[in-house]
Amino acid sequence: MTSLTSNYLDGNAAAGELSRIFAMDLTAAEGQCAHCGARKRFADAHVYMQSPGVVARCAVCQHILLRLVSVRQRVFLDLRGMTYLCLDTDHVQPSV
Ligand SMILES: [Zn+2]
Repeated sequence: MTSLTSNYLDGNAAAGELSRIFAMDLTAAEGQCAHCGARKRFADAHVYMQSPGVVARCAVCQHILLRLVSVRQRVFLDLRGMTYLCLDTDHVQPSV
C-alpha cells in the first residue's frame, strides 16, 4: 500500500493529457488553490496518474486542484479546486 504523498509526479506529468484540450502549455501557468490560497505554477502541483484520469493536488495542502477524465471522445475537466489559473500569452506557440 502506498501513501497519498509518496506516489505523485510533478505537474509536468500532466502536460500530455492537458495538451489534448488546451492550446497553451498549462504547466507554466500560475494557479491559486481554492482551499489554502497558495499561488504556484501548475508544474509544482502533485499529479496522480494512477486513478482513472489525472488528478492534480496542491503541493501545500493536498487539496484537489484539477481532475481530468477521458471517456471515449469526451474529456471531463474539473477546475473548481483553483480560484484562478493565470496563463502567460507570451508562451503561446503559433499554430502551423
Ligand atoms: Zn492548497
